[in-house]
Amino acid sequence: MSAKNNKIKKPAGLVIVYTGEGKGKTTAAIGLAIRAAGWRKKIAVIQFIKGYKEIGEWKFLESIKQIDIYQTHDSKIASIGLPNNQHKSSCLKSLKMLKTLINKDEHDVLILDEINNAISYDLVEAGEIIKILNDRPVRQTVILTGRNAPEEILEIADLVTEMKNIKHPYDIGIQAKRGIDY
Ligand code: ATP
Ligand code: MG
Repeated sequence: MSAKNNKIKKPAGLVIVYTGEGKGKTTAAIGLAIRAAGWRKKIAVIQFIKGYKEIGEWKFLESIKQIDIYQTHDSKIASIGLPNNQHKSSCLKSLKMLKTLINKDEHDVLILDEINNAISYDLVEAGEIIKILNDRPVRQTVILTGRNAPEEILEIADLVTEMKNIKHPYDIGIQAKRGIDY
């Protein structure tokens, strides 16, 4: 077999997972969105669990034509705490939104922010997400962020990066900073 035939044929789009305890998952995904936008690609960001618009990425991305950003939760606070029924229903809305966007096939990159947390809290089923990802248009890249990405998701991913927490200012009581943490 020639070297050319040996090459693994993969679809254009990838499944990318940013997980782990360290900082940088959401910002890495947003960084990739900006890179893709530079090539005139169209990007959608669905923020699972988050329902807070006083965050830098919302304020900026909302004004960018090529990037659509959605939140389905309504909350005055940035962090989730323990999930409740409201989180469950907003996750179902996010899932519906994801299916609608995939059906429309308008985006090159879809970012499912904090979806790994939503799965690990049992607000969304891993099996359902995997089915959606398997059936998506092959050109689409999907990025799943959040802590505790489940094994099934890691298995179907093409790229997995685990952010490892070496040091975080929070550990010595320094509070979240505007423009850096949110
Ligand atoms: P970022 O949004 O800055 O890329 P992240 O997506 O990796 O961070 P999340 O797990 O979504 O982090 O956490 C949300 C918030 O918690 C962010 O404001 C982030 O700065 C902060 N954070 C991230 N990692 C840590 C950590 N190891 N200890 C304390 N706070 C953290
Ligand atoms: Mg995050």
